[in-house]
Amino acid sequence: METLAGVMEGAAIASGAAFVMSKYLIKHLPIDYAELVKAGQADVLAKIFELAAKLDSSMKNQPPSVVFAKACAMTITACWVFRTATKATDATLENGVVQTILGGLKKIPGISGVVASEKEKIYKKLQDQVYNGRYPEGAVPKFTELPAKPFSFEECMATIEKIDAKDEKYAYDKTKLSGAVYFKNKEHAEFQTKVYSRFIATNIIHADQYPSVARMDAELISMTASMVKDPTGKVVPCGSVTSGGSESILCAMKASRDWWLERNSYGLFRNFLTTLPWRKSSNLPEIIIADSAHAAYIKAVDYYNLKMVTIRCDEKTGYRLTADAVRKRITANTAIIVVSAPTYPHGVFDDIEGIGKLAAERGIAVHVDACLGGYVIPFAKEAGFDRPRMDFGIEGVTSMSLDTHKYGLAHKGTSVVLYRNKDIRKHQFTSVTDWTGGLYISPTMAGSRSGAVVAAAWASLITVGREGFVEQTKTLLTLAEKLVKGIESIEDVRILGKPDSCLIAFGAKNPKKLDIYKVNDAMTKKGWHLASLQRPAGLHMCLAPSHTSEMIDQLIKDLQQCIMDVKKGPKDGEEGMAPIYGMAESLPDRHIIGDVLCAYQEAALDS
Ligand SMILES: *Cc1c(COP(=O)(O)O)cnc(C)c1O
Repeated sequence: METLAGVMEGAAIASGAAFVMSKYLIKHLPIDYAELVKAGQADVLAKIFELAAKLDSSMKNQPPSVVFAKACAMTITACWVFRTATKATDATLENGVVQTILGGLKKIPGISGVVASEKEKIYKKLQDQVYNGRYPEGAVPKFTELPAKPFSFEECMATIEKIDAKDEKYAYDKTKLSGAVYFKNKEHAEFQTKVYSRFIATNIIHADQYPSVARMDAELISMTASMVKDPTGKVVPCGSVTSGGSESILCAMKASRDWWLERNSYGLFRNFLTTLPWRKSSNLPEIIIADSAHAAYIKAVDYYNLKMVTIRCDEKTGYRLTADAVRKRITANTAIIVVSAPTYPHGVFDDIEGIGKLAAERGIAVHVDACLGGYVIPFAKEAGFDRPRMDFGIEGVTSMSLDTHKYGLAHKGTSVVLYRNKDIRKHQFTSVTDWTGGLYISPTMAGSRSGAVVAAAWASLITVGREGFVEQTKTLLTLAEKLVKGIESIEDVRILGKPDSCLIAFGAKNPKKLDIYKVNDAMTKKGWHLASLQRPAGLHMCLAPSHTSEMIDQLIKDLQQCIMDVKKGPKDGEEGMAPIYGMAESLPDRHIIGDVLCAYQEAALDS
């Protein structure tokens, strides 16, 4: 649609210019127009002038104000029609024809009733499976309002012990969760808690009162930046600390968008173009992401009014985003391209160098999502593994996110976002000069920021040290290779993509014969928590320092057993997440699934 809008725009501008030019030529050049027409050399022009003459004569008796009003009305109508058509076509292209038709059908009264009752059934199933039945009725007190009388600390703790009875307990070397728990060991986790409690009263926004945590905040940035610095030393990255990967990503998207707009939107010509009514649906800054990019980018699209351009990555490219695929989708509005190092679903690296080069030539921002790869892959070479580069020496890389609360082995609640230079980063800041509350500046989305989580993360980095991170990388990548071999030894499954990190994705060799989601439900019964993937159906295991070689042996053994059980078991089970994922895979109408997800969230927030 954009192409059509572009062509129309071009045509409109070109014909306008041609019109002005021809007027000028006719007036000022010694050309006998009548002669030209006679000679048949100006047929088209003649037709236009003929039409114009007809129009003139038909409107001869109308006062200029009426002519003007009619012209305005026609222009507005034409623009409205075009814009509506563009929007409808865009929506159809984005959602697919089936989805659009279904969306329309659903609004018909009879059908909407059926859909609603089906949805109700799914809601109930979710409620029952996910939220009810976690605790026997009455086993744990429920606080729907403040207790009238305060609990004593002992009473409170006794209640907590009931509430967290069903939680996964942190067990160094026995964790069956994919990802989720990232500590070096128990002592390392407990030491951070000690550091945390020392700084509970601090607030980084009041840097003058708490110089300690302000300094740790800055050092967290520079220690992280040093891991992904430009080997030639030309680029000196800067950054800021956030509350987690998603906030780092949101900050980077906001800064990148505004950095790009500063250079691309305020030009006279672009400003003129953006006022053209038919561009309304397509003049937003565009962000190119792979369908494997983290969900936080969809959040950024929602929050920052970007236009999302999604590229489907499949088996052919090993689930990685390639420069070729990106090149085809770049337009004059492309502001940001996202690459992952590695991707959350499959643990593969996108083509950072190829895409960086494309973007650098065009002044487009490139964000490297190293939320997962940070604190691991930068040490791969030193650990003796050959892995793709991920640093600011790569041309075109403008920002990067690395999660201290993942492989930085810190308590949950911190992450670092880095920028190629201060010029980009400054678009992340909010400064308020005229507030009656005083002069105000804040670097991130949060206002007040706990110094305690930052101090804990800082303590994690300096107690693990470079040596510790190299060691961790060696262990994780060795375990990952072992896991790959183990999965490859199982006949019915195959690895998805070619994993670059310590996250391994796999799916059924023949999805018709083996429902991998049922395998997951069976694994869940054995205490494992693997992540479910879709399009194609799959599972992944993200290795963390709490996993050991013995645990991988156990995982492979359990996986073999579960696959056998599923192959022998009944075809349609009602339990677990398999029916829900099965439905999500098969339903063409994504709105229904979206509604189900909302119900899932509501059940959590409102129960
Ligand atoms: C975990 C992760 C994120 C988001 O991090 P949160 O800390 O959960 O907000 C983003 N990208 C990738 C690749 C991740 O693995």
